[in-house]
Amino acid sequence: MPNLVLVGCQWGDEGKGRVTDLLAERARVVVRFQGGPNAGHTLIVDGQEFVLHLVPSGILNPETLCVIGNGVVIDPDLLLTEIDQLAALGHDTGPQHLKISDRAVAIMPYHRLLDGKGERERGHNRIGTTGRGIGPSYEDKVARRAVRMGDLLHTARLRTRLEAHLPDLRRRLGTDGVDVDMMELMRRGRAWGERLREHVVDTSAAIHARMVQGDSVVFEGAQGTMLDIDHGTYPFVTSSNTVAGNACVGAGVGPTDIDAVLGVVKAYTTRVGEGPFPTELQGEVADQLRKAGGEFGSTTGRPRRCGWFDAVIALRSAALNGLTGLVLTKLDVLSGLEKLRVGTSYRIFDQPVVDFPCCVDELARCEYDHIELPGWQEDITGVREFADLPETARAYVDRLEELVGVPIRMISVGPSREQIILRSDPFIGRGSA
Ligand code: IMP
Repeated sequence: MPNLVLVGCQWGDEGKGRVTDLLAERARVVVRFQGGPNAGHTLIVDGQEFVLHLVPSGILNPETLCVIGNGVVIDPDLLLTEIDQLAALGHDTGPQHLKISDRAVAIMPYHRLLDGKGERERGHNRIGTTGRGIGPSYEDKVARRAVRMGDLLHTARLRTRLEAHLPDLRRRLGTDGVDVDMMELMRRGRAWGERLREHVVDTSAAIHARMVQGDSVVFEGAQGTMLDIDHGTYPFVTSSNTVAGNACVGAGVGPTDIDAVLGVVKAYTTRVGEGPFPTELQGEVADQLRKAGGEFGSTTGRPRRCGWFDAVIALRSAALNGLTGLVLTKLDVLSGLEKLRVGTSYRIFDQPVVDFPCCVDELARCEYDHIELPGWQEDITGVREFADLPETARAYVDRLEELVGVPIRMISVGPSREQIILRSDPFIGRGSA
């Protein structure tokens, strides 16, 4: 059975969660491989809204094994809250259904303090992080001083890790660190370990075992390609690799295990936090998109910045991720606009920009060239077949497909599970028909 990586191709919030939820009807395993509770996946099933920050979106399907892979950073308090909420709603969150990598890094309470301190110290240059301790926990991982989920299961190991780290931590936190207390950290760490013990395993081995059985795996990305630590709009990025290649590292599988890479793009563009955004809109149209699209962060509630679809970014994402297909989300949000713009290339003072700028200052100076297409006035939220969309909506989709050079396999026209137009099988991989 094919294995598929699903990634966001803009600045996050493309609607990956609801796509995973749909794919989970066919996949038997869903794996998160990077990021942490900075992600917020909103799902609407039978009119009920779920916002998942850590648990993979496949959890609503009782047949699907959900895995939080080694590449994820986990806030155990938030994870336990999410597990309890799902269980209270009658969803199975037992260890057979939800497995957590023993190698995933634990976000400790002090990581949030460090995140806040870092942002305050950056002043005007702040990144606009979600404040959930993501950056500092990845810093500890690469500095080889992190507490990993497996450490929470062994008191002595946990103590050794914390003791070695504490003096340096107090120095980094300064006055913010006066409350960091070894006894309290040990108490919380052991309590987390006790509650999560049955879930914490070698998830790479668990995924392999399921692949050997012939089960299909979906690797669910968080954030978006433009927030990738290497390839995004650095330094206004998150602290992990969000591109499809990292699915292998963050889940413990090999490149040859992947058959298809599906990219998710919104029919327009949004961004939360700071950093350049060439096709950004101000004023009435931005307000209309924000309102119609409910563009407020699911993790922080911040209003999202809105702009036109940027084909430069989509094209770059297609290359960085090796996309075999696209999902276009929120097409319905564009209904009612008279004209639609699509950014097609960048220039600085009339000089075409050939390579995507490495430096954000350069990206911030870019103006975009665009095409203009007619909009549509009809409500398309009830459409389920591509042929039933208004002609101008079909032309818009066809034009995006042509610009990005990747088949648009699914289109969403509303937030519910069934508001999807399926154009071709999302699991089709490279070289397949
Ligand atoms: P951090 O991941 O909390 O360190 O935040 C770094 C940047 O990534 C900020 O601009 C955040 O707004 C952005 N970011 C992190 N997670 C998400 C997400 O899931 N969707 C959209 N933006 C995100």
